[in-house]
Amino acid sequence: MTAASVYLHVPFCRQRCSYCDFFRVTDAEGTHPLAARWFDLLWQELLLWRAEGAVSPETPLRTIYMGGGTPSLTTPRVIGDFLNRVRGEFAVASDCEITLEMQPGTTTRAGVEELAAAGINRFSVGAQTFSQRWLDLSGRRHSADDTRTTITAVREVAGDTALSVDLIAAWPGQDLTALRGDVEEALSFGPAHLSVYELTFKDGTELARAEGAGEVVALSEDDRAEMFIEVACLAAAAGLAQYEVSNFARPGSESRHNTAYWTLDDCVGLGAGAHSLVWPHRYSNPHDLGGYAASVEQGRLFRVVNDAADPEIFAAENLFMALRLLRGVDLDWFAGRVGSDVRQTHAIALARLQEAGLVELNDSLLRLTSEGLLRADGIAALFV
Ligand code: SF4
Repeated sequence: MTAASVYLHVPFCRQRCSYCDFFRVTDAEGTHPLAARWFDLLWQELLLWRAEGAVSPETPLRTIYMGGGTPSLTTPRVIGDFLNRVRGEFAVASDCEITLEMQPGTTTRAGVEELAAAGINRFSVGAQTFSQRWLDLSGRRHSADDTRTTITAVREVAGDTALSVDLIAAWPGQDLTALRGDVEEALSFGPAHLSVYELTFKDGTELARAEGAGEVVALSEDDRAEMFIEVACLAAAAGLAQYEVSNFARPGSESRHNTAYWTLDDCVGLGAGAHSLVWPHRYSNPHDLGGYAASVEQGRLFRVVNDAADPEIFAAENLFMALRLLRGVDLDWFAGRVGSDVRQTHAIALARLQEAGLVELNDSLLRLTSEGLLRADGIAALFV
């Protein structure tokens, strides 16, 4: 099987957001020597994956996703040239979903028009919050008005079905009223897709330092759970059904690219810091821009194998990736996919989760319960 999904990691950012632990480099002035030729390197890497058969000109690409980092700092011309190269040498499905993550304030309305003309048909706008208080805490450079301008441009140029809005919930000091304000404003633009991620305090981030120093306090588990129940209600009232732990969409507007991750479909990730799944192996490209550029230019993939050494951990990790989808996982299918049956290898852990009301098993279909949805990340850790 060859991949029908390609992810491009563009690791350059103008600022360092306080909560972020993604692989990126801060390039405040936009002068990083590799930024200008990044898409050439990504193209060369794609050809290397093709040479070893992980992507094929015969398998039409169904999704292309440009994430980061801040890929919307790239000019529409460079993105358009890359997509033309792909169309020239690969089969691309006529309805291929082509997503660009957009940071508000990095693109003008004319830029959005050029991006849409180049083939971007899904714009994922990182609003995070409309409150200046938490924008200040986040370290982001844009204002809420920048977000409104970007969202309006996407909506008017590409339509509401092309619009996805990202928010972060559970900011220190945020209450239900403030959360409702953020979600209602995002929904007021009529996006077909909404992602709401819980704020996390990851090691090494500015936010974790501030929490450790007592400058900010994380919300309690109960408060966070209450917020996610509220988000699901507001989204449902706007016609967006929850289909994954953090994602809501109008029917038919679910992210095809991210769904490919959750359904364990092959995906080739390009760029330093990118991850790939070429079944049965997971790979990652190390966090080293110079090493990446040198390797790709010498005609060698810059990747390491990331498989769990223990097959039971491998099965558990993949199960919890798939279980994030509300529709659940058919364990008969899953056993065929990973080569072992978790009903046998993890019987005790499964029974414990069922007794705790966190998962339900009907015939071969395993799903998170509504309680399990609120604790999905914690459950995964228990199971692994
Ligand atoms: S723009 Fe995105 S990738 Fe860059 S620092 Fe902020 S959250 Fe991280």
